[in-house]
Parts: sequence; structure tokens; C-alpha cells
Amino acid sequence: MSKKILITGAAGFLGSHLCDRFIKEGYQVIGMDNLITGDMKNIDHLLKRDEFEFFHYDVTNFIHVAGKLDYILHFASPASPIDYLKIPIQTLKVSSIGIFHLLGLAKEKNARILIASTSEVYGDPLVHPQSEDYYGNVNTIGPRGVYDEAKRFQESMTMAYHRFHGLETRIARIFNTYGPRMCLNDGRVIPAFIGQALRGEDLTVFGDGSQTRSFCYVDDQIEGIYRLLLSDYSEPVNIGNPDEITIKQFAEEIIKLTNSNQKIIYKSLPEDDPLKRQPDITRAKEILGWEPKVSRSDGMKISYDYFKSLSQEELFKSEHKDFSKHIKR
Ligand code: UDP
Repeated sequence: MSKKILITGAAGFLGSHLCDRFIKEGYQVIGMDNLITGDMKNIDHLLKRDEFEFFHYDVTNFIHVAGKLDYILHFASPASPIDYLKIPIQTLKVSSIGIFHLLGLAKEKNARILIASTSEVYGDPLVHPQSEDYYGNVNTIGPRGVYDEAKRFQESMTMAYHRFHGLETRIARIFNTYGPRMCLNDGRVIPAFIGQALRGEDLTVFGDGSQTRSFCYVDDQIEGIYRLLLSDYSEPVNIGNPDEITIKQFAEEIIKLTNSNQKIIYKSLPEDDPLKRQPDITRAKEILGWEPKVSRSDGMKISYDYFKSLSQEELFKSEHKDFSKHIKR
């Protein structure tokens, strides 16, 4: 009998790739998403498959799943700084109230649960590169606090269930990841720059562009998460690509890649924007035998082809989704 897995955030960027992967591995997949930031087009191709079921559902409500359940992946959450600003309370709820429900479900079903945590638990790091034993430097009340603190709380809750109830838990600290199905309009730097190049606009670098990020291609990220779920390791594991670059250099790379003549223009640096970020992946290498394989140049070519294939309507839709209909006042 095939294993059954619940994936929350199934219509999102990482969630949809995880659905693909687990179906490919022979699992029965239940996808769940409230579609605030997710998009059904990411899982359209799965809807007709017998191995896939989808529920349009918000995990901050009580969750019931009939029958057995072997695994849970909690990937529901807004994931871009613009989204945290627009929907701060949902961002807090999904990783606090949501994780309560999912841990309770895991306990009831005796299922193993993996949570999507983030490099944001390190905040604006004072240690470089960031290893899992670094406690972080987070501004609780800043604009990113709603995401960072919710994810930190989610880790604490998960460890408490592990220690107190003996639940099998896994924590993936995910660093910047990119690839096909990223939302073109959520303001994250890769879709932002590629979208600007495709529309013939100048590329907006925030600050002086000396801040760094380290970008991981989605297939590598999914492989890391897959291995972590199947491992017996319950402490957090960084999953990301250590290949670090400044945002200014990255903008220059995109101009070359897209063969565009756009200029770089500078805008003010958002509050609490981390100045440096690079994962130390020693633990992932040792415990999972994992390291990223896809170079930035290969991954960016694939991603560029994906964004180029989107419709003009999507390309020129400047605003991310209208959140107002999801917000109860
Ligand atoms: N950034 C930028 N221009 C943009 C969008 C983002 O210079 O149009 C910068 C942003 O200030 C940050 C980095 O790119 O330093 C990565 O931003 P992103 O929103 O992708 O993710 P973060 O890693 O900050 O969560």
C-alpha cells in the first residue's frame, strides 16, 4: 500500500514541486492550500491524477484527514517580504495556529512531520556563514518580524512536540530558492529583476546592492527536503546553496542573461533587510549526503525560459494578488 502524505501550501512554489516529487516517488498526496498566495495553475497538471487530492482549505482552522497518514509537510505560508507586509496577521497565524493543528494531526495519526523553516530565523545575521547553532539576530517588531518570529515559534512548537510527545519531527531551514513557478509579482528579487528585464524596465537594486544572498535552484532544494524527511534527524538542517553573490553583481548577471540594455537604478534598502546571507551546509552534507548540484548559471537559464513563457497579461500584472477578499474584518 502506498504511503500517504499531506502537503500544506500545495499550490505554492515549493509545495507544488514537492507534490510532483512525492507523486513521482509513488506516494498518495493530499494537497491543501487557502490560495492566498498560492496559485492553482501550479498544480493544474495534478488534478486529474488518482494519486492526488486537493482541498482548498486554511490550516488555521481545525484539520481533519480521514484514514491513515504517514507524513506531513507544512509549507503553507506567505514567503516574500511584500506579502508579509500586506498580510502580516495571516503570516503569523499560519505558522502558529496552523502548526498547532498540524502537530496535533501528526500526533493523532502517528505521522512524521517536516516543517518549512527559513534562513529568516537568523534575522540580520552577525555570524557568517550561518550554521544551525547560531541563534540569530531578529527584530521582533520590525516588518519582517511577523514571518521571522512565526517561523521561530514554529520551530519551538515542533521541538516541544518531539520532546514531550516523542513525535517524529524534521526542521528544514530553507535559504533563498528559485526556479519555475515562482510568483512573478511577489517582489522577490529574481522574479522582480527578470520581470523588469522582460518588460524593458530598469532593474531596481535596493540600497547600494552590497547585501548578499545565496540562491539555491528548486530541484536541489526539493532533493534536500526529501532526504531530510526520510532521515532520522530531528534537529534543524540548513538547505541552501552557499554560492554567495551581492545583489548588484546579481543584477548585472541578469542583464547579461536576458541580453537586455536595461540600467540599474538604486532605491532605498527596506527596513531590516539582512546584509549577508550564506548557509553553512556542513550538517546537510554529513547527515543527508546532500549538496546542491545546479549552478546559478544553469538554474537561471531554466528560470528565465520559464518566465519568458508566461503570458503578457501575467508579465504586466504589476500587483500581486488582491488579498482583500481573504481578510475578514
Ligand atoms: N531586492 C532588490 N531589488 C528588488 C527586490 C529585492 O535589490 O526589486 C533585494 C532585497 O533588498 C534583498 C535581496 O534583493 O536584499 C533579496 O530579496 P528577496 O525579497 O528576494 O528575499 P529576502 O532574501 O530578502 O527574503
